[in-house]
Amino acid sequence: MINGFKASLLNKDVFSVTWELVPGRGAREKSQEDAIKAAGQAAQDGLVHALTLTDNPGGRPAMSAASLGAEIIKLGIEPLVHFTCKDKNRNGIESELYALDRSGVRNLLVMTGDYPVSGYEGRPKPVFDLDPVHILDLISRMNAGLEVPAGKGTVNHQPSDFFAGAVVSPFKANEAELMAQYYKLQKKIDHGASFIVTQLGFDARKFHEVLQFVRNYRADVPVIGNIYILPYGAGRMMNANELPGCVVTDQLLADLDVEKAAEDKGVGARLLRAARMYAIMKGMGYDGVHIGGHNLKYEQVKYIIETGEELSGDWSSLLRYFDYPQPGGFYYYEKDSVTGLNSKQPVNRAGLPGDVPVEFNYQMMRFFHHLLFTPGKNLFPAMESYYKGVKDPRKHGFEHFLKVVGNDCKDCGDCALLDIAYQCPMSQCPKNQRNGPCGGSFNGWCEVYPHEKKCIWVKAYAMLKAYHEEDQLEKMYLPPVNWDLYQTSAWYNYYTGRDHSGLGKKDKPE
Ligand code: SF4
Repeated sequence: MINGFKASLLNKDVFSVTWELVPGRGAREKSQEDAIKAAGQAAQDGLVHALTLTDNPGGRPAMSAASLGAEIIKLGIEPLVHFTCKDKNRNGIESELYALDRSGVRNLLVMTGDYPVSGYEGRPKPVFDLDPVHILDLISRMNAGLEVPAGKGTVNHQPSDFFAGAVVSPFKANEAELMAQYYKLQKKIDHGASFIVTQLGFDARKFHEVLQFVRNYRADVPVIGNIYILPYGAGRMMNANELPGCVVTDQLLADLDVEKAAEDKGVGARLLRAARMYAIMKGMGYDGVHIGGHNLKYEQVKYIIETGEELSGDWSSLLRYFDYPQPGGFYYYEKDSVTGLNSKQPVNRAGLPGDVPVEFNYQMMRFFHHLLFTPGKNLFPAMESYYKGVKDPRKHGFEHFLKVVGNDCKDCGDCALLDIAYQCPMSQCPKNQRNGPCGGSFNGWCEVYPHEKKCIWVKAYAMLKAYHEEDQLEKMYLPPVNWDLYQTSAWYNYYTGRDHSGLGKKDKPE
């Protein structure tokens, strides 16, 4: 059966539209019935190409997006299932992919997911066993026919037919934060993302920036712009950084405040804003839009599409409605003074100051790692020789003590310190991200600890940039942690080639 969403997105003559539904908590409650009703309406006239279904949004329990997707596809419209890393380990993820494959649900939007905040009898355990790059990699392998152990050898499964995309947020104010996002975006594309969906936002220049960035990296990857119908209440929460990764500036909030005084409480103004965004996205060259908003009715989605189409002929005159830059915010490209968008010229980042000062601990770690862990140099041969003679890698008290003091080590045994500028993703990143940041940071702060802890990827970029080595983060790729190595000596695993570095097969960064 043809995948209507994929066909729409890959057809340059079609502007693809997805509409986000939030299944909500429960099985037969109003929110699930509303979602099914909306799906039935959307299936009628073909204006919407896929319905996106959120996966435990906000870190709270909800009806499974995968199960609802299997129900929706029977109504004659494609689901686009959000697929997050927060609640399932790698085996749970693989199981769910098999279930989706069997039920004919092929469109997936892979993302890290919000940090779990509440559930039955308290906060759930955050899992984050795989990151989005890993899941995209697994899906690519499944699409090629996953190779699995069988008897003495291996067999290949029947290939799946998933069409998997990824998300990116260009709405980051700091250079380090934005560059870490874009480095991870490249990894997502390299590992199988077939389309990209942006975070919601209201700055036209940023929407233009990310579109141009993806086009420059891989012109054949379609990009979908996010349109969020923004009421004052949600705007106030986003302005206060209470909805991770969603940026609403003070100026936009002030405009929403004026709009809400209207007789219709601002409904008309926000739908018109959405229609204008639709027109701009289409005019800029996006391949489609993702329309979302709380309690949005099908008639309102239809209005946005139809009005957006009417306005799209003169889209550049609408850019003035989306001039909401973050104060002092960093842009990847130089500004185009004529359009107010971006020129083709990237900003010269070399002369810009680092977003985080270089820490003494980082300098010490550099020195000792150069001394001990640079293949073939300094004390490396002696260390290698010693560790190759170690009989029990679980006895590693001295190493453990040093790393607990220096990095709050959680003893994963598959150490990422050398790869991420001596930032530990297992203890210092609540989402255990090993290939780049999630989308939830704000002004360089971690989503989970705002104004308390900087995102480790922001720190890593800033530290490496001080030594002109920030592109190390662009090139590196870490596979999932091998939990076979848990509570064993990471130094032993490094020198004997048991960790991800596979030392001896390739050089490690210094
Ligand atoms: S061994 Fe694992 S938990 Fe310990 S510092 Fe390295 S990455 Fe972090």
